[in-house]
Amino acid sequence: MDRYAVIGNPISHSQSPFIHGRFAEQTGQDISYERLLAPLDDFAGTLDSFRQEGGKGCNITVPFKTEALALAGQLTERAELAGAVNTLQLLPDGRWLGDNTDGAGLVLDLKRLAVPLSGARILLLGAGGAARGALGPLLAEGPAELVVANRTRARADELAARFSSLGNIVSAPLDAPGRAFDVIINSTSASLQGERLTLEAGVCHSETRVYDMMYGRDETVFMGWARAQGLRYRYDGLGMLVGQAAESFYLWRGVRPEIMPVLTALRAKLESAT
Ligand code: NDP
Repeated sequence: MDRYAVIGNPISHSQSPFIHGRFAEQTGQDISYERLLAPLDDFAGTLDSFRQEGGKGCNITVPFKTEALALAGQLTERAELAGAVNTLQLLPDGRWLGDNTDGAGLVLDLKRLAVPLSGARILLLGAGGAARGALGPLLAEGPAELVVANRTRARADELAARFSSLGNIVSAPLDAPGRAFDVIINSTSASLQGERLTLEAGVCHSETRVYDMMYGRDETVFMGWARAQGLRYRYDGLGMLVGQAAESFYLWRGVRPEIMPVLTALRAKLESAT
């Protein structure tokens, strides 16, 4: 039985063991998958012990995605572009291959939801790690324009410059990103702090699709804003979570799991949790 894990700190909340357990059942793959708590000052030690104990691959979560990038002996193009690694796979020579499946998971979910991307005007709020992972896969879908808007404008400028060769991307201030976007994606962590996102009137039209990378039982402030605008196409990031896991599973096992049954089971699990 091949051994896999998710490494982070904190880690007890992670749904990855549930998701990968379901993928394994569904595809008949004989794997184990566990949570590993790494000390904040010793991610490298935890990863090394995992390898010595037979670990074949792992997901990496907060706050170790940049450290994982540095420890990977080889990187996929999308991990290099994102500047962060959320998936490691053990290579035959004992080095780790670092990948980033967050953006691919997001795009898989947006497509499942029939959100138009090609030729669309897309607004991405936030310029942190999740935004960096999302930009390459989003630009690969050929939007008419992708505006990245962030509270700290310089970080949005930096991302727009970094990804400019991949498509039509510009930066903007968070309080004046432009008008009438077809798709608005929230990758800020404002909701985690319960803070408001102040978006100007006119940023959306009646058919705008909004997507919040955050998920949970309670409505986020961003989703509350979208509801108050009368927008009917509102989606949370649970499908992105399952999508990025499916991409990791495919990298490790060479088999594509079905996302929908696992997403449905996960949503039911979270909704029934007290
Ligand atoms: P980072 O800490 O790297 O980035 C946070 C971003 O949020 C920055 O752009 C920051 O702006 C902005 N921000 C924070 N507070 C506020 C605020 N009060 N108002 C406006 N902007 C604010 O976090 P990540 O990019 O890693 O994660 C962002 C979100 O995405 C989280 O909610 C996370 O849970 C979610 N996520 C979901 C995934 C999924 O699978 N569904 C996968 C990965 C992430 P500034 O630069 O000014 O500080």
